Amino acid sequence: MSFLRHISHSSMSTWLQCPAKWAKRYIENLPERRSLALAAGSVFHQTLAAASSRRISLEAAMLLVPELVDAELRKEPVDATPEEVTTTALEYLSSYLPAFTALELTPQAVEQEFHLPIPGIPVRFLGYIDLVARDKDGQLIVLDFKTAERRWDEGKVVRDMQHIPYVLAVSHALRVPPERVTFEFHVVTRSDVQRLAPPPLSPERAAWWQGQVKTVVRAIEAGIFPANPDGWWCSPKFCPYYGQCLAVQGGN
Ligand code: SF4
Repeated sequence: MSFLRHISHSSMSTWLQCPAKWAKRYIENLPERRSLALAAGSVFHQTLAAASSRRISLEAAMLLVPELVDAELRKEPVDATPEEVTTTALEYLSSYLPAFTALELTPQAVEQEFHLPIPGIPVRFLGYIDLVARDKDGQLIVLDFKTAERRWDEGKVVRDMQHIPYVLAVSHALRVPPERVTFEFHVVTRSDVQRLAPPPLSPERAAWWQGQVKTVVRAIEAGIFPANPDGWWCSPKFCPYYGQCLAVQGGN
């Protein structure tokens, strides 16, 4: 039996953290409540997308936040009030406003969906690039926005896998070598912004990543879903299934 039509970074990283959590989310479709951080992060992304696609200032786009919060809360239950989501989203946006404005970006593509073939398996990798833009010097840059409670450590960006398919997708689309694609994470906390660029993508690391995708897809197709409770992801804060999971609750 085949479970997958495609795989995404979020799906893959969920399986790598805890395959049992993957099965609860993607096979059992157990209901999840969204956290304040997730809901506010989504509103932050939608506001930036509105600014980029409508070619308006981020300041003007921030006026859309209340209606974006309303729409967000109608989609799925959130463990926060509308006021909390609005305040948190505006804090992230206010923190990012000076840096985003100073970049003077000319958007080329906003929330661009892509499907990347993976050699050796029929399942494609599905992703969404937050923004492809030219900066004020004309340099093409691929951006992924992150909202976070605290700053990233530098090692995280070196270990990161998420940017690899984005770089490959842009490389294929523009017919330029992956090592010439400029990619940045903009990590936004309530008080500051980090611009972090992963190292240029080498052919060896791209091939390693494709091997990782194949391994995960084959394990999912084989129905391999052990619980992995030994990590930061296994907590009431980060796993919506914590209260009902026998790996951590003991069944009493
Ligand atoms: S509670 Fe822990 S072990 Fe259970 S599904 Fe969630 S992450 Fe996995």
